[in-house]
Amino acid sequence: MTDAPELQAERSSALQWRVWCRYCRAFHYHGIGAGHRAAHCATTTPYTATGYTLIAPKADQERSL
Ligand SMILES: [Zn+2]
Repeated sequence: MTDAPELQAERSSALQWRVWCRYCRAFHYHGIGAGHRAAHCATTTPYTATGYTLIAPKADQERSL
């Protein structure tokens, strides 16, 4: 549907996931849930045009099976 890249998320807290942004060189924090998100980049990056798709942390993928 989109050209949004997929980023592996990791658990940050009970309520948040985080993804490493190679452009901002920082973590961006998102509410839990795999799927497409608007980029949280503070400046214009390749992600801001498309957003990105969060991939669930492995532990959560296993739990959901
Ligand atoms: Zn960013």
